[in-house]
Order: sequence, then structure tokens, then C-alpha cells
Amino acid sequence: MKSTRKIGLLLTLVFLLPALFFSVYEISSLDNDEKMIQEIYNKQLEAILFSVNQYSDDILGSWTSRIETNIEFPVTPDSIPKKVNDLLMFSASLQAIFISDSAQGSSSMSVFGKDEKFSAQARVVADSVLSMSRARIQQLLSYKRNGYQKVERVDVSMPGMSNLQCLVFILGNENQGYRVGGLFIDPELFIEEVVGPRLQTISRDQFVLFCFRQGVAEPIYSTSTETESPTAEALTKDFWLFPDYTLGIRSTGNTLQTLVRERTTVNLMLLVALDVILIIAVILVFRNLKREVDLAQNKSDFVSNVSHEIRTPLALISMFAETLELDRVPTEEKKREYYGIISKEAQRLSGIVNKILNFSQTEAKKKTLHIESLHLDTEINSILTTYDFHLRNKGFHYTFAGTESLWIMADREALTEMIINLIDNAMKYSEDKKQIEIATGREGQYGFVAVRDHGMGISAKDQKHIFDKFYRVSSGNLAKSRGTGLGLSLVKQLMEEQQGRITVNSEPGKGSRFTLFFLIERTQ
Ligand code: ADP
Repeated sequence: MKSTRKIGLLLTLVFLLPALFFSVYEISSLDNDEKMIQEIYNKQLEAILFSVNQYSDDILGSWTSRIETNIEFPVTPDSIPKKVNDLLMFSASLQAIFISDSAQGSSSMSVFGKDEKFSAQARVVADSVLSMSRARIQQLLSYKRNGYQKVERVDVSMPGMSNLQCLVFILGNENQGYRVGGLFIDPELFIEEVVGPRLQTISRDQFVLFCFRQGVAEPIYSTSTETESPTAEALTKDFWLFPDYTLGIRSTGNTLQTLVRERTTVNLMLLVALDVILIIAVILVFRNLKREVDLAQNKSDFVSNVSHEIRTPLALISMFAETLELDRVPTEEKKREYYGIISKEAQRLSGIVNKILNFSQTEAKKKTLHIESLHLDTEINSILTTYDFHLRNKGFHYTFAGTESLWIMADREALTEMIINLIDNAMKYSEDKKQIEIATGREGQYGFVAVRDHGMGISAKDQKHIFDKFYRVSSGNLAKSRGTGLGLSLVKQLMEEQQGRITVNSEPGKGSRFTLFFLIERTQ
């Protein structure tokens, strides 16, 4: 596996995967957290409603024990103890009290109502309660015998008083005998008078508590004056005393759900942002590492390339020098040929060494360029004149299309070196079609010189790297044309120092066009 791929995999495994797993886990648990919080919250709301119910039961319990402790037996229909009378008078919801003279069905009734007319009506109902709910009364009696006072609602139909609820309980003891007591209560008044203040104390700006009557959309009581429908996102529970009524509760302002949802959204966004940052960081680290690894790879290729480049001329030189030394050369003509080879190879050697030195000097910015105004066509013509023999010798044809009067800002030596580099490459990487076109021209504020060949071309992928130092395209018949991978990198550096740039247009199999753009002299 390529080492960069290994690094990529390692980075993904060490940084990205744990982070992504964590994010997925967090995202899924956020939902669970939300559910859990909601559950806990609902339990609290339930507890509040439970306490309201308990409170209502306690109040009723206090009423029944007040009646039980103050009533005197035998109960006379017309006399009512003051404390019981006060209870009747001051509790708006309590409409009537009735007490039988025994716990048996045939017993007679004493009824105390808020007014005469109501007392008469209540008596009729109370009678029917006693006869109808015998089983229920027997049960309450057995509770009472065991020391437990229970108040229970009985279903009765009361003409003209449909809203009233009847609650029965047992009072008395073994010695005095047991009696059935009953209360006629208006539930809505009870809610307003007894439950309401309690709800107000509980709500304390944090909750809205309310009470509904079955089948009625608007609450009959609410601790909030807002008109919005309180049923939205509210928790409701039955009202124990009066089954036709329901208690409800919800938090004020932001509901828990919106709070949790807001928190979830913020958390999610943070997580996503974190992941994005991490992904970007991993990509950056990967890219840097890849660059380093590629550079190291290119460097080692460079060493082997250069060694090879140097070894070949050295071998030739020593071989021909030896032959000459031993005087084994038959003719003068051959001797001259050998000398020629030795000097050509020596030139090649110094060319390579110069190139490397040049590169290292340029890279270390040790070379100061002397940028001056140059007449582009004149410079190119002079370079071509010097190179003409070399080009023709290698079987190349070249054309030059110039632009008169184009003055550029450049270093003469650097310009020559760059053009020779480009022409050398065009020669090295051309195969059958040995044709090179050189052209100069103007584009905006730049003057350019382009070198075009019809050689092997460069793939788009490689085009991105050919200006990197030590980079050589590693495919095709490159072995034939050895190089250092420094030429284009050097050209690019020199161009940057002259505030110009180099571009390449190339298509594999069709050839390449390298263009150098120089700043034009200001006066033009
Ligand atoms: P080298 O010493 O290998 O020529 P360069 O830096 O000059 O180094 O070029 C880098 C690579 O770019 C070369 O190895 C070659 O593959 C590619 N290249 C440069 N010029 C041309 C060209 N004219 N045609 C095709 N490929 C080229």
C-alpha cells in the first residue's frame, strides 16, 4: 500500500472515526436524554397534580370530621350546631348536609340546607341515596369500623340541580351507633373556593394549573389570565373527587419541550461544527503529510536519477580516456572523435552540476537577479541563434513568431536559462514529430513567450506536480530521457522572483505549450 494512503487511513482511524462515532452516539443519545428529561418532568407534574387531589381530599376530610365532632345525637332536624352551621354558611360550594338517624335504609333524615326550599329537595334526594346505595354504605361502614373515614361520591339524579355532587360518609361509633352523613357540593364552586387558592400557591409563575369540565373546551378555572389554549403540551389527570372534572398543568413561557429542543439543536450544531473542523483538520494534516512524503519520495528518485545521469558520462569519459592513454586508437580521425566524445560528455556533466547548483542557489535565494528592461524578441532571437546548431543537430525544426517592440522586465541570464530549459524539455519529450514553435506576444499587462512542442504531452494529473521540485512523470518512456526533476521547478521560482508566472497547456500524445508571462515595462 502506498505510504500516503496508509497515513490517510491512520488519520481517519485515529481521529475521524472516533469523533464520528462519538457524534453519532451523542446524536442518538440526545434523543434519549430528551425523553428521559421529559419523563422526569412529567413525573414532577404528576406529583403536583397528585398533591392537589390529596389536598382536596384533606379539605373534605376536615369538613366531615368537623361535622362528626360537633353534631349531637340524636340529631333533631331543626337544631344545627353552630360550628356545622358556620361550615354550611361560609363554604360557598357546600349546599346542604344530611345526617340519617341510623345506618339502616329505613332511617329518617335530618337535612340542613342553605335555604328552606333547597332543604326540601335535598331531603328527597338523600332518601333515595340511602335506599339506592346500600351496598356502598355497608362498605363505608366496614371501613369506619376499622377506624378509616372514607368519603365517597354517589351518583344521584337531582332534578334542577344537575351540577351538584353528592358525597357520603359514615359518622358515629360503636356505642352511639353509626349514621350516614352526606354533603351536597357544587364542584365548580368547590374548585374556585378550595382548589383555586391552592393552585395559585403552587403555580408561582412557573406553571399554569387549570381545571376542565368534561366536554367543555375552555377551562373552568385557570391560574393564568392568558387566553391561549392551555391544553397545548399540558399534562392532565382526573380529579379524584369529581370524575367529570380534570386537572391540568403545564410550564409557563418556554415549555420544556422547546427548551430541550433548543438545547438539542445547539448541541447538534456544535457537534456538526466540531466534525467539520475535525474533517478539515484531518484533510489539512493529510495534505501536508502527503506533500512531505511525496517530496521525500521525489528526493530519493532525484538521487538515483542524478547518480545515473552522472555515471553515464563518467563511464564514457573514462572508457575513451583509457583507450587514448593506451594508444590503441588506429587513426587520427578516430582520436578526434574520441576527444570530441570526452569533451561532450564533460560538458554534459558540468551541465548537470550547474543545474543543481543553480537550483540550490535560487532556492536559497542566494542569487540576486538583475531585473531590467529587455526587448523580448531580441533576447529570444539571440538565444535561438546560439541554440540553432544544437536543435538542428538533433533533427528539430523550429519556428519563431515574434512581436515587435515588446519590452519586458526580466533578468537576462534567468531568461536565457528558462528558455533553454523549456526548449531542452521540448526536445527531450518529443518523439517522432520534431517540431518546436516559439512565439512571443502580449496579454494584458504581461508580455509572454511560449514554447510549443508536439511530443508526448502531460496528463492533467501530472500537470499539477511538474513544477514541484524533484518531480518527474513516472510513466511512459521516461527512462530514455533522464532528468533531475529540477528544471521546471527552477523556472517557476525564477518567474516568481521576476513577478511573472509560468503556465502549461498540454494534452497527452499531442504535445505541450509552456508559456512564461513577464511584466511589461511601465512606459509601454
Ligand atoms: P526533468 O529533469 O525531469 O526534465 P523538469 O522539472 O524539467 O525535470 O520537468 C519535470 C517533468 O515534467 C518531466 O519529468 C516531464 O515528465 C515533464 N515535462 C516537462 N516538460 C515537458 C514537455 N515539454 N513535454 C512533456 N513532458 C514534459
